[in-house]
Parts: sequence; C-alpha cells; structure tokens
Amino acid sequence: MMNLETRFTDLLRDRNLKATPKRIELLNVVASYSSAIPYSEIQSKLNHFDRVTLYRTINALLDGGIIHKASVSSDEVYYAMCKEYCTSECHNHKHVHFKCLECMEVSCVDVTNPLQIQIPNVIIKQVEIEVSGVCEKCVS
Ligand SMILES: [Zn+2]
Ligand SMILES: [Zn+2]
Ligand SMILES: [Zn+2]
Repeated sequence: MMNLETRFTDLLRDRNLKATPKRIELLNVVASYSSAIPYSEIQSKLNHFDRVTLYRTINALLDGGIIHKASVSSDEVYYAMCKEYCTSECHNHKHVHFKCLECMEVSCVDVTNPLQIQIPNVIIKQVEIEVSGVCEKCVS
C-alpha cells in the first residue's frame, strides 16, 4: 500500500517545497475528495488553521503546481489535485471543469478531443472552460 504521507512528502520536495506538516495535511484533505473540493469544505476540515496560514498553504501548493483552482461560475472557489504534468513553472491542464447542476459537484474531466484554441496576435497562457450538465451519478 502506498503511504500517502511519503507520497506527499516526495511531491512537495520534487517541487522544491518544504514538506511541512500543514502542507501535508492540506494535501490529505484535497486528495481525499473524489471531486474538486470547495474552499468552505477545506476551511471546515482544517479549522485549526488560522486564515492566513490556510491562505499561505494553499498558495504554496498552487504555485508549486500541486493543486489548481477548478474555476466555475459559482460563489465558491474549488480546488483539485494536479496531475504529474504540472510543474512549478506551469500548470498544464488538458481537462475541463464539469459542474453537475443536480448535485453541484465540480470535477476535472479529461476531454477526448484535444482543445485547440487559437487567437491571432495574442499569447494564450491559460484556458478555462466550464462545462455543466448532469453527472454520471445523478443521471442514473
Ligand atoms: Zn495544475
Ligand atoms: Zn451530480
Ligand atoms: Zn481540474
């Protein structure tokens, strides 16, 4: 069985981040969620973190290419784990964020056809696509 703490420690060190207990704890919370986790859920699970500490811990992991914001048009900010191909230099997501209109879950979904978005004369750094509908669980 893979030891999560070891895995997270390696992940943090790989991105030149110190494997502090707080960062590992945050990763545990984000990774334990099958879909993207709402900020309020992180807050309630880590209510022993003060606001600033939580903010800093989240930002360190965002900058390190370990977690990302799963932006959807909602009052809430969602976070999800990144895959191996994200680095501290660049988040490189080949997926879209899907919001279920029934259960309101937000998840990272791989797309079967590669997204090709080109705009003349601009340099695209990030593409955010939100897809909404009814998820697998709610459809059945
Ligand atoms: Zn990422
Ligand atoms: Zn659903
Ligand atoms: Zn995502």
